[in-house]
Amino acid sequence: MLYLIALGSNMRHPRLGQPRAVLDAATDALAQNGLDVLARSPTITSRPLGPSQRNFANAAAVVETPLDPVELLDLLQSIEREFGRPAPQRRIGQRWRARMLDLDIVLWSGGMWQSPRLTIPHAAMAQRDFVLGPASSIAGEWRDPVTGLSLRQLNARL
Ligand code: ATP
Ligand code: MG
Ligand code: MG
Repeated sequence: MLYLIALGSNMRHPRLGQPRAVLDAATDALAQNGLDVLARSPTITSRPLGPSQRNFANAAAVVETPLDPVELLDLLQSIEREFGRPAPQRRIGQRWRARMLDLDIVLWSGGMWQSPRLTIPHAAMAQRDFVLGPASSIAGEWRDPVTGLSLRQLNARL
């Protein structure tokens, strides 16, 4: 199975330092946990909305693994916890809150997935430049099964 994963951080890690270093370490953690990291985008910095808030670092990776989507989500959430993030909470749209590490499944080679814990494609993918920018730089031809548009096309629409 191929997956496109979105990585995000907006906290300084006590040992690793800046958010972009957190994402580099998170990419290493993906590989150390048995995922085959086929591609990794450059890290971008996206400014949050509020003046006193922290910048986000964002990146994307394409990984190959035999894990099914829920097994992969379990693994990603265990990595998030290793990085010191509190237990996941559902607060859609509040991308500016502080967090050490967010690992979301954006796309999957199996197409769509819908279950109580997991929606693929990621529900907000098409509205997020900080997802589509990095993602289209490594997987621009990958098509969103919902719209039929490629990541490059979706990114150009924003
Ligand atoms: P957003 O989904 O808007 O980016 P978030 O990433 O901040 O929000 P989290 O707190 O990381 O949200 O996760 C909340 C829940 O979202 C998780 O417990 C997980 O079950 C669920 N979820 C649903 N679809 C996905 C997906 N495609 N990738 C990751 N988590 C997902
Ligand atoms: Mg997220
Ligand atoms: Mg998440």
